Amino acid sequence: MSQPTITRSWVASANGHADFPLQNLPLGVFSRNGSAPRFGVAIGEHIFDLEAALEAGLLEGAARSAVEAARGGQLNAFFELGRGPRVALRERLLELLGEGSTLHGKIQAQGVKLLPLAADCQMHLPAKINDYTDFYVGIEHAQNVGKLFRPDNPLLPNYKYVPIGYHGRASTIRPSGAEVRRPKGQTLPAGQTEPNFGPCARLDYELELGIWIGQGNPMGDCIAIADAAEHIAGFCLLNDWSARDIQAWEYQPLGPFLSKSFITSISPWVVTAEALEPFRRAQPARPEGDPQPLPYLLDARDQAAGGFDIELEVLLTTAAMREQGLPAHRLTLSNTGYMYWTVAQMVAHHSVNGCQLQAGDLFGSGTLSGPENGQFGSLLEITEGGKKPIELPSGEVRKFLEDGDEIILRGRCRREGFASIGFGECRGTVLPAR
Ligand code: MN
Repeated sequence: MSQPTITRSWVASANGHADFPLQNLPLGVFSRNGSAPRFGVAIGEHIFDLEAALEAGLLEGAARSAVEAARGGQLNAFFELGRGPRVALRERLLELLGEGSTLHGKIQAQGVKLLPLAADCQMHLPAKINDYTDFYVGIEHAQNVGKLFRPDNPLLPNYKYVPIGYHGRASTIRPSGAEVRRPKGQTLPAGQTEPNFGPCARLDYELELGIWIGQGNPMGDCIAIADAAEHIAGFCLLNDWSARDIQAWEYQPLGPFLSKSFITSISPWVVTAEALEPFRRAQPARPEGDPQPLPYLLDARDQAAGGFDIELEVLLTTAAMREQGLPAHRLTLSNTGYMYWTVAQMVAHHSVNGCQLQAGDLFGSGTLSGPENGQFGSLLEITEGGKKPIELPSGEVRKFLEDGDEIILRGRCRREGFASIGFGECRGTVLPAR
């Protein structure tokens, strides 16, 4: 599949929309005026209410089953249906919302019942997340951070064999806009031998790609690398908020714990594999001397087209910048091309021991930094652990995040000859410790 034959929508704001033109059609769960959460699709400045469309008799066959599975404000059962119904729904939406749709008048006549303004709606988590796993596949980040902790040995010997990950906390994943309360915990100040307890002083963001699992696997079975991409329902942006001082004290020997589990923010729209199809790319060749992936992680088709070209951006505003009307300051411009492992390799690896994945599980890619200044996906890397503060347009300086700071993640796909699509935003503002 490449570009749909219908490329313009009669929903005027969709045409040329930075994130949600007709070619994207990301899926999500929204509510309006305090209503129960509903299944919808973003189109320009609007949300097309799929449950209202179902009631209006606009959906049939597999597209109808797809929306029926998602009623009640959680997409897990829809994710579990896999690719077929998802594609059928997309094709029906291209017909309904595309220019020249014979149902244009009927849909428009229903007004906000079918097409509310997104600005009047509230977004929710798209699924009940039973399990969340955070990987570490951004090799530039792994090297940048490794250098800070182990200057002579930045990358541990398992990195090029194992897609490293750890089990994260699902209960504290929140959609964009949720408040980020500064956590409290144990930290070991430099030069001390016993820890302090108090508010985190080194609060950071991590720029990651989120991966939604579609069809799962029975416990004891594994998902073959050749089939793994079919088990992914879609993608989002993910901010793995991190308390660096808590992390530095607690992380050995089992990895991060309370330094990560206080909140993880995600963009609420699920961008499908179908929408991302034009922006697939070959997985970058491994540098000379790197080992080949073990056979259970190696698939020719995955190597040829299992990567993505998604531009990822992080912006910061402080309370003072917002008061002065200053624009958001860009901290990071990076790309999914810095992933050392593909999303299919993450799925195959996660299940190779018989671990059960379930529809609506969420993976984080790990921080996706590039190798250069301006491409670092965390303040830990940008300020070298607080040694090199950055200056903001307001004249303020930052080593780590202060109360009132807001972090905004954005993701965009561009390719000559194709409409650009985006992920929408993932925002969060830091509130003082309580
Ligand atoms: Mn992370």
